[in-house]
Amino acid sequence: MFLTCIYCLKRRRETSYSKREHVVHQCLGRFKQNFVLHEMVCDSCNQYFGDGIDLVLGRGSLEGFIRPWHGMKSDGKPLRKRLKTRVASGQKMSGLIVSILPAKGKDEPVADLMDQICFKNKTSGQYECFELEKLPSKEEIMSRGLDPKEAYLTVEDEKEVKKVQRRLKKLGLGPMKWESKEWVGDDRLVFETEAVLDAIVARALCKIAFNYLVFNTERDFVLREGFNDIRRFIRHGEGDFRKFLRPNLPPLLIEDRQLNIQTTRGHLITLTWSDKGNRIISRLSPFNQQTYEIVLCSNFSDLWRPLRIGHHFDLETKEITKLGDAAGLIVLPPGSQILR
Ligand SMILES: [Zn+2]
Repeated sequence: MFLTCIYCLKRRRETSYSKREHVVHQCLGRFKQNFVLHEMVCDSCNQYFGDGIDLVLGRGSLEGFIRPWHGMKSDGKPLRKRLKTRVASGQKMSGLIVSILPAKGKDEPVADLMDQICFKNKTSGQYECFELEKLPSKEEIMSRGLDPKEAYLTVEDEKEVKKVQRRLKKLGLGPMKWESKEWVGDDRLVFETEAVLDAIVARALCKIAFNYLVFNTERDFVLREGFNDIRRFIRHGEGDFRKFLRPNLPPLLIEDRQLNIQTTRGHLITLTWSDKGNRIISRLSPFNQQTYEIVLCSNFSDLWRPLRIGHHFDLETKEITKLGDAAGLIVLPPGSQILR
């Protein structure tokens, strides 16, 4: 028997669908009676996602950054291209660049100090830090108002100091005097993190929403032409990601909105029609932190069908429950009725 893959639209033999596709990628947790798609995503697409967008979601996105706080282990080091974490201002050593690593046998993740050089800003007196792999030029130092003579270096191995001095000299910086000091970090520091949302991360988030639509409908429905744009965006990166995904929505749960609290730290996802009934919208809030709106179809012209559903993926109990049911979770998307 031949089946059409919901992402590449290729017709392939049943045997080419040996892997399961989790609606919410396993990097965001494993759940009881997990939502899984069988024979919907071909092995080729499954592999492509696993090596690319899913990997970035798990290790290099805002969501990937939150994972260690839920005890989620990582197979590899964090991908830091889209993430920047620093010691927040107003503390000793503010501005220092760190990498957050999942804790081993401890309750909370640990901050790993990166090898870096920090220059004092002549006006503010604050230090601005640069990783040694990304040393700034003399011009950049000057244009940022930094003092090339007032700098400190954090390195794990003291042998590095000579190497860095040589590199700085080449950049026209120095010679500088160095004195060695052992840094005793505070037990608890406040960090600030910047996470970049780009097309790669957006595709991984859109895939969760599209998988959720597939799980709640069936193959024939999601193979319709109206879903080709989102399909091509997820599978091939075609189109501007802002057309499909919008961040910074208010919290999905009405309690959270009204009381300004966070009722759960699990994942939330919903599926609804737009007010005019021509667009199919998913709202996704991994860890109930950042909330995204995802447009799965922007101009639906086929037969209308009821689509109004939401689920809570509880990371503590590992249960998946329908929103509005026994869990007491109620969603109120803008301009709509309470979902029960
Ligand atoms: Zn495929």
